[in-house]
Amino acid sequence: MLAVTSSSCGSSSLWHGLGDDAGAFCARHVGPDAQDVAGMLRVVGADTLDSLMAQTVPDSIRLHGAMGLGHGVPEHVALARLRTIAAENRVLTSLIGQGYYDTILPSVIQRNVLENPAWYTAYTPYQPEISQGRLEALLNFQTLVIELTGLEVANASLLDEGTAAAEAMAMARRVSKSRATAFFVDADCHPQTIAVLRTRAEPMGWQLVLGDPATDLDPQAVFGALFQYPGSTGELRDPRAWIESLHAAGGIAAVCADPMALMLVESPGALGADIAVGTMQRYGMPMGAGGPHAAYMAVRDALRRNIPGRIVGVSVDSRGKPAYRLALQTREQHIRREKATSNICTAQALPAIVSSMYALYHGPAGLKAIAGRIHGLTAIAAAGLRALGCTVVTQAFFDTLKVKTGGQTDAVIARALEAGMNLRRVDDAHIGISLDETSTPDTVRAIWRSVSGDEAAVARVEAGLGTVDRAIPADLARKGEFLTQPIFSACRSETDMLRYLRRLADRDLALDRTMIPLGSCTMKLNATAEMLPITWPEFCNIHPFAPADQMRGYTRLFTDLERMLCRISGYAAVSLQPNSGAQGEFAGLMAIRGYHHARGDAGRDVCLIPASAHGTNPASAQMAGMRVVVVACDGQGNVDMDDLKAKIAKHAPQLAAIMITYPSTHGVFEENVREICDLVHAAGGQVYVDGANLNAQVGLAQPGVYGGDVSHFNLHKTFCIPHGGGGPGMGPIGVGAHLAPYLPGAPQRGEANAISAAPFGSADVLPISWMYMVMMGDEGLKRATGIAILNSNYIATRLSGHYPVLYRGAQGRVAHECIIDLRPLKDETGVTVDDIAKRLIDHGFHAPTVSFPVAGTFMIEPTESESRAELDRFCDAMIAIRAEIAAVAAGEMGIEQSPLRHAPHTVRDLTDPDWNRAYDRAAACLPGAVAPASKYWSPVNRLDNAYGDRNLVCSCPDTGSYMD
Ligand SMILES: *Cc1c(COP(=O)(O)O)cnc(C)c1O
Repeated sequence: MLAVTSSSCGSSSLWHGLGDDAGAFCARHVGPDAQDVAGMLRVVGADTLDSLMAQTVPDSIRLHGAMGLGHGVPEHVALARLRTIAAENRVLTSLIGQGYYDTILPSVIQRNVLENPAWYTAYTPYQPEISQGRLEALLNFQTLVIELTGLEVANASLLDEGTAAAEAMAMARRVSKSRATAFFVDADCHPQTIAVLRTRAEPMGWQLVLGDPATDLDPQAVFGALFQYPGSTGELRDPRAWIESLHAAGGIAAVCADPMALMLVESPGALGADIAVGTMQRYGMPMGAGGPHAAYMAVRDALRRNIPGRIVGVSVDSRGKPAYRLALQTREQHIRREKATSNICTAQALPAIVSSMYALYHGPAGLKAIAGRIHGLTAIAAAGLRALGCTVVTQAFFDTLKVKTGGQTDAVIARALEAGMNLRRVDDAHIGISLDETSTPDTVRAIWRSVSGDEAAVARVEAGLGTVDRAIPADLARKGEFLTQPIFSACRSETDMLRYLRRLADRDLALDRTMIPLGSCTMKLNATAEMLPITWPEFCNIHPFAPADQMRGYTRLFTDLERMLCRISGYAAVSLQPNSGAQGEFAGLMAIRGYHHARGDAGRDVCLIPASAHGTNPASAQMAGMRVVVVACDGQGNVDMDDLKAKIAKHAPQLAAIMITYPSTHGVFEENVREICDLVHAAGGQVYVDGANLNAQVGLAQPGVYGGDVSHFNLHKTFCIPHGGGGPGMGPIGVGAHLAPYLPGAPQRGEANAISAAPFGSADVLPISWMYMVMMGDEGLKRATGIAILNSNYIATRLSGHYPVLYRGAQGRVAHECIIDLRPLKDETGVTVDDIAKRLIDHGFHAPTVSFPVAGTFMIEPTESESRAELDRFCDAMIAIRAEIAAVAAGEMGIEQSPLRHAPHTVRDLTDPDWNRAYDRAAACLPGAVAPASKYWSPVNRLDNAYGDRNLVCSCPDTGSYMD
């Protein structure tokens, strides 16, 4: 499909003059029109876009030919093409279980959260004042998890159940009192979880002990253990004794629990667990061939400082009113680098919000009813199977049965397929059956027919069953009230739900209201046509482990994407498995590790990382068992070549890799990137090019050609997957041919190097990037890069008379982002980066990236999607703020009295009867060119972060008292 041309125009002159629609979508995706581009080029002082590119991108790495993606096509054509691909998937009823279950996403949540740009185009809530809506939704999620698990602290999601289990193992090692280096894993954990644990344990030197906890657990020999509850094949076992024995030996107990089962069975907290993890998928998120779904993690209170990922907490604003914000440890990778608790950055905020809303929609009684019905149907299924003479191995269970097939496994699975159902092949002698929210008595009858093969007997057995006992042992039945917080009972009607969703969304600034110029994050257009396919049933309702012949459409999609990413990046092979950029880093470094080990070079464990690198780089290197050696940057923000040479000379025999970001996190195309790669290669090391900044390179330069051995591509940056308020994302990696053998294997089959629970990560969001590339084509993608660079240079030029631009390339140009230095102003006036970031809110803007990669600076990345008018609005706001800073500098206004320090201003300020500030309310609330009719009001005043960290509260209050 790659070489298709966009229109049906043949060579015949008949069709000439009708116009060509190849650029139709590109013209929508890119903000500035031709006239804007011409005007902006004049401002930046370049003759043409090409000459600007020539001044920006070093000639030594320029790609001069085409990438080979063909012409772009209009959105209706791309959608039609994707429809035919989707139609090649076959949607059957999947009773495979193993962590993935069919679920019913309430329509009000589908349309108003999952398909609503107010939710999906938001960024991670680092700026709490403009994020109160999603922060409240994530606090609801944490509260839900805390209530379900019976533990005290939960985070705001992890990537998937497998990686959450791996985080639990790593956390157990950090906090365990045991000195052992082995970790016990219940053999009845999901196979994909075990595969991900293996990958994570190996570089750390931890041994996995796989076995039956009842017979094989030696608490003295391990630092912790993971139990699946209920087990992967269905058995519900009481882990209390195992947990006690672990605790007695100083070990840590983690439980992987199904949140639907937890409506009926005793919570991990009540059973003594220290950590609970799992996936919230069946709370409303479609299976989507593996994701995206929110994994959860909850811990005992004593472990709160060790929990990885982000935690939403409650603090107060400057008026003392309660307000939400992310707790301090949120940016710990940037602070603690290789000593961070994990590399998790992008998580699963949007799926977490969907799952929390699913819980609000149903309320505790509704959820109990759903769980009760699933269990009841399963109990009836088991009783019927036994009455039919089948051996149901599972004794105590929630929703999953393991059934002996007497050598008939293939026949049973074939009969089920005939009836439109997928069953799990547990092994040659057993099948697994998991029921879910969509199951009905007909599902159960079809199971009976498939397993027994005896139609007539089924009718007889059903008539004779009478009442069937439930199969949850009394001492494991859940006791006590939970989910009693008022919020879980507040949205009974759809009207209530709709308005709650709207109320929260209205509190937030997302891309549907304003540009979000976050450097390194690439907040570009997430086009509606790109988003439509993610809720098509042919993509949503596929189990990740469904038979290959039901996934033909997905297979085509994956193949197309891999090929397009290879052509863009110049790499030989791509893996779509990693669920985030950081997971891509880990996967890529593990590939490098595998390569060195296979060559007998196991001693290579040093990873060079420039001081300017994103915090996930050192955190990932540490996870891959590497020692981080920092390389200095010079005054221009480039890698210091002398220091690099010295570090290479010192560590040559141990050199495993260098991780560089290109263009650098300083927003510059370094001239000597080829030389850097050559030096590392000459010393036997491999080059990891962090692809987060690929938006500055697509069509212009290829990391796989100028020296990279491996890169990740943040599909949620360059390739249009929306950020979702902090996920989902995707971080596929591309590698040179020599690293291809070390790409992630299939987790469900226990293959080596599994990085995620599902073989193609969050497959359901991949159509977004497919649509983008197909609609843009070669020329469109290259133009997007050019405009991204033009927009950034335009901002740099307009702001440079007011704020110093910190770094520039050899010819005075910045890449697709630029850093402005606010430190001199702080020294002179006391005005902080936060003051400016918060004052931008009064102007209706989301702040740029604050203090990364250089403390006291803004990193501004406009992307190609912003028009000249929006760039001007932003620059005008920054210049208006500069005048307020000048007033402070001139002594006309004290910093403490200035609107800068009191920003953002709220309706409480506007209506404050005791207003006695040194500036008037109009200046406070309607600064610059802000139009009253389109004013965005921050719902809270500036947050007090220190207060929130001293008084960590990370669940909903029992009363809604602090809400307006
Ligand atoms: C965003 C980013 C990452 C991490 O990506 P996630 O998808 O958030 O894990 C890594 N490096 C750089 C330079 C980034 O900007």
